[in-house]
Amino acid sequence: MSQNHSENCIFCKIVAGQIPSKKVYEDEEMYAFHDINPSAPVHFLMIPKRHFANLMDASSADEALLGRMMAIAPRLASEQGCRPGDTGGFRVMVNNGVDGGQEVYHLHIHVMGGPRPWNKN
Ligand code: AMP
Ligand code: ZN
Repeated sequence: MSQNHSENCIFCKIVAGQIPSKKVYEDEEMYAFHDINPSAPVHFLMIPKRHFANLMDASSADEALLGRMMAIAPRLASEQGCRPGDTGGFRVMVNNGVDGGQEVYHLHIHVMGGPRPWNKN
């Protein structure tokens, strides 16, 4: 079930300032910070401040926030050094559950970009 804060969730602790992070963006509902183990020259994570595990745990109440996160991603990507236009661009990715390769169970949107090659495809 969704809840505001989950004990022992590292991303809730990042939102609460109990674990340090390199902030990219923050507003009332979301927080963005650099991935500690980047897979690309630019790699940051966008998370809702409210805890929910992944898209399978999202509800209709989360639609506006998820839309807002997707809509602001290009601006943040550009600010972090992703190059504009079709010769630049960036990747957004959400891993969900074991089969989705999810490691941290607080919904997060990966934003990756910058000149290739990257550490991962
Ligand atoms: P996922 O497989 O989508 O759950 O990916 C979790 C991501 O969180 C990985 O890319 C990790 O490098 C990243 N990560 C884990 N702990 C931290 C942390 N304390 N600060 C920043 N990024 C983290
Ligand atoms: Zn959490």
